[in-house]
Amino acid sequence: MIKSVLIANRGEIACRIIRTARALGVRTVAVYSDADAKALHVRSADDAIHVGPSSARASYLDGERIIAAAKASGAEAIHPGYGFLSENAEFARAVQAAGLVWVGPDPASIGAMGLKDQAKRLMADAGVPVTPGYSGERQDLDFLAERADDIGYPVLIKAVAGGGGKGMRRVDSAADFADALASCTREAVAAFGNAHVLIEKYIEHPRHLEVQVFGDRHGNVVHLFERDCSPQRRHQKVIEEAPAPGMDAATRAALCAAAVRAAKAVDYVNAGTVEFIADASEGLRADRIWFMEMNTRLQVEHPVTEAITGVDLVEWQLRVASGEPLPRTQDELAIHGWAMEARLYAEDPAKGFLPSVGRLDHLVLPESARVDTGVEEGDEVSPYYDPMIAKLVVHAPTRVQAAAELADACGSVKCAPVRSNAWFLARLLSDSAFRAGDVSTGFIADRFDAFAEPPQPSGGLLQVMADAMISNSLHVGGHRTQQHAMLEDLRGFRVNAKPSRSVRLRVDGATREVELSLTPSQLRDRGWERPSIFLDDFGDGVAFEDGAAFRLAADRHDPPSGGAAASDGAVLSPMPGRIVAVAVAEGQQVTKGQRLVTVEAMKMEHALTAPFDGIVAELPAREGAQVEEGMRLVRIAAEDGVGEAQ
Ligand code: ADP
Repeated sequence: MIKSVLIANRGEIACRIIRTARALGVRTVAVYSDADAKALHVRSADDAIHVGPSSARASYLDGERIIAAAKASGAEAIHPGYGFLSENAEFARAVQAAGLVWVGPDPASIGAMGLKDQAKRLMADAGVPVTPGYSGERQDLDFLAERADDIGYPVLIKAVAGGGGKGMRRVDSAADFADALASCTREAVAAFGNAHVLIEKYIEHPRHLEVQVFGDRHGNVVHLFERDCSPQRRHQKVIEEAPAPGMDAATRAALCAAAVRAAKAVDYVNAGTVEFIADASEGLRADRIWFMEMNTRLQVEHPVTEAITGVDLVEWQLRVASGEPLPRTQDELAIHGWAMEARLYAEDPAKGFLPSVGRLDHLVLPESARVDTGVEEGDEVSPYYDPMIAKLVVHAPTRVQAAAELADACGSVKCAPVRSNAWFLARLLSDSAFRAGDVSTGFIADRFDAFAEPPQPSGGLLQVMADAMISNSLHVGGHRTQQHAMLEDLRGFRVNAKPSRSVRLRVDGATREVELSLTPSQLRDRGWERPSIFLDDFGDGVAFEDGAAFRLAADRHDPPSGGAAASDGAVLSPMPGRIVAVAVAEGQQVTKGQRLVTVEAMKMEHALTAPFDGIVAELPAREGAQVEEGMRLVRIAAEDGVGEAQ
């Protein structure tokens, strides 16, 4: 086994590789750009080497600097992860020429699958079914237009060097062909420096199926079954699962055999994925599944395969790169249960999936799922790289359970102020057609408006927000701002005030009038807990629900019209934390604003102060004690008895 590996990547995949390498006792070396100097993958690795400025082109894509870093660090091998240099045959060759071990397929295999047209021809020769179409050398417009007529519309024009969903155009009629070809080649030249295209039959009701394959240097190639990655947005995967819904044993056998044939045709070694497109208009049928392309690297969605097979694919990669045979034979591999992955992105689905960058002040990821991530709370999402926050992966006995668990996991994500697509994912995963396994690559586009509709806080959450704002304004002391004064007025000290209180809040900038009709304990009884709300010292905050984050502020300029509340003088803990000081004693006289108790939470101290002049009637607070949010710490009784009324 190799003893050390440099990971020529960043983010979640670098962290993922480090995890397995460490378990195997392999020393890890990270590389980083300026923007990533403090990134999690750098903090996690045994060693880290700076390879350039923030731009990926000048750092993670600079093969020479990466090889130099490997040499300088004494690493024996380079693992490229996915993206960046992972499918660059020239880089793989340079790594080997430098005397380093390349954790991946031979450069010749990468090259053979590098261009879509060449790969399709190779696969057709090897007896692998390919999507009907034209993938030859001739590129003049008239000739290609004739081929499109032969194939029959709709057709898909694909840049042979394309990737990541770029360089593709669907064309529905001959009249549109010339324009579509021109725009496709323009994009292909700009993005890939290669104008060549192929023409394919556009498959209706298409599903994206792919097969994980693995080869070693001893002539063995196995498959690790299929994944379904049909829910896509602009040809990019959003949800991936294994196995594929609706797959029968015979179709699976045919599909996986075709994938192994494809891998053997290019003498494939290490981890690879053979991608197919299926015409699922009448369910999955072996004669309606065609080769699309092969990805000669570890895939983003590899964890779903790991979950159902119990194989650590990165471990296999390191073993195979070290010259060991595959740890298991085909007969020793089987499917257990159902796995599903969601890609959590720093982007706002309600704003056209605009990437969202900045500091992850709040980032709480589900404990119920496998979380592959490259960031932690407090880290930055930088504008330089792919804005993925994490991959959330669940494994359950059945598909229905997996979908429900993943929906819950996405709904429990708390991410702010960076925007995330968690709520969009949760909705998608709760969709009845999705739950029924009725997915095609057009599934998201068909329901886009419903999925991307901006989330609104529920009535229950608004109640909790209003309640939290009132308590916070009264009890988080120290900063007597205008807001505090306003909120104190709002709460008021009148006895026998009307039981309902009207509170004005600003939620995501819009004013909401909330009739606060429930007490905190009634809210709790209905399952509305406060922990999903975080308020800062000034009364602003954020509330989380179903994967969405709502910015919360007191309505500053327009004081509430509704009745003020009676106060029982209870001073509640504003958040879960620890009592670090108790400044008063029972029976002591205190004046409004006087510090009573200090709670430490989220690494900050919060001084809780007296809401009005009075005496300390009850003092359950004990120094050093852990407290829950909303727990009563002190009760102040006004000397005239006002505070005792309720
Ligand atoms: P890329 O290399 O950019 O990922 P692919 O060839 O893998 O491109 O195709 C990406 C996606 O485009 C597929 O997952 C599928 O959704 C869609 N697609 C590709 N080929 C076809 C086709 N012939 N008919 C319909 N959809 C297709």
